[in-house]
Amino acid sequence: MPQKKDYYEVLGVRKDADPQEIKKAYRKLAMEYHPDRNPSPSAEEKFKEISEAYGVLSDSEKRAQYDRFGHAGIDRQYTQEDIFRDIPFDDIFREFGFGGGGGGFGGIFDAFFGGGRGAAERTAQRGSDLRYDLHIPLEDAVSGTETKIKIMRTETCDVCGGSGAKPGTSPKICPHCRGTGQISQARRTPFGQFITTSPCPHCSGKGKIIESPCSSCHGSGRVRRARTISISIPAGIESGSRLRVSGEGEHGVRGGPPGDLYVIVHIDPHPLFKRDGDTILYELPIRFTQAALGDEVVVPTLHGNVRMKIPAGTQSNSILRLRGKGMPRLHGLGNGDQLVKVTIAVPTRLSARERELLTELQKIEDKSNTKSGKKHKGIFEKVKDVL
Ligand SMILES: [Zn+2]
Ligand SMILES: [Zn+2]
Repeated sequence: MPQKKDYYEVLGVRKDADPQEIKKAYRKLAMEYHPDRNPSPSAEEKFKEISEAYGVLSDSEKRAQYDRFGHAGIDRQYTQEDIFRDIPFDDIFREFGFGGGGGGFGGIFDAFFGGGRGAAERTAQRGSDLRYDLHIPLEDAVSGTETKIKIMRTETCDVCGGSGAKPGTSPKICPHCRGTGQISQARRTPFGQFITTSPCPHCSGKGKIIESPCSSCHGSGRVRRARTISISIPAGIESGSRLRVSGEGEHGVRGGPPGDLYVIVHIDPHPLFKRDGDTILYELPIRFTQAALGDEVVVPTLHGNVRMKIPAGTQSNSILRLRGKGMPRLHGLGNGDQLVKVTIAVPTRLSARERELLTELQKIEDKSNTKSGKKHKGIFEKVKDVL
């Protein structure tokens, strides 16, 4: 490859030339070498060369890059497309007196340097994801459940199939942009057919014009719809879990795939139970006599009531374990446990007989405490205070 010439040399300007000088130099050379004016076979190559030099030197960022790193700095960071696309050819050519419109250089142009912004707008787009916050009782998290939720989402209009045109009619190709959605400031230039594009103002970049809009979507091709979606909640789900329902988000645009629906599951606080992972905590107040003598009681669990033995001599705040009565573990690995924290409830109302018995008990305890070091005195003092 031949050594690329210095851009300043190409335009015949000094290194410190200001933008006006650079533009002036380019305009002069472009007039000379523009292939429409100069039939010489080398003119085309020359025109391309000066245009590239102008493309770089007329852009302060590219120029700074070039000044620091030379051609390598430009080649590393910009494609030829980048360089040519940013040249304000409209201005230059208008000044040539070639006219501003696409007609000046004739012809229908393809996008030589790839699509412009308009093309991106017309490509398929995936629909947006949706979020739904679902509150369930703890019981539903135990058993797992199927539930239905109602969501609003944007869908492709089913009356017109998304075309936006009244059934029986169809959108017309926009005559202004010939369906491309872009108004092309198109130029046949020595470096190929190339366009500077902007979205077509007649069809808003859609490439189509709807003469009789669909009455359901008013021509947009999209509608808001309420939908009921079935959600399957797995047994053992944790609060805050996110369930992804694939493809139930908003519909895609121009044939793009739909988004997903994310259901965030919140488990409501339970009046009886606290949850810690797969363990359920339950607090059970029992009477002093039950604690002292032992008993069998009925305890509620998330799996129904169960009988539980309270061993004689159970202390307050003891934890008793009900195996397998906790939350199911995900993936069917059995259940956690329910822990029962026993607290001893002190009676606040006593019948005469109860009082008699407790008083007697107290006398006995007082005697034995004197012998055995007042082990239980604290408890009885509290009972006395309440009385
Ligand atoms: Zn419609
Ligand atoms: Zn158009």
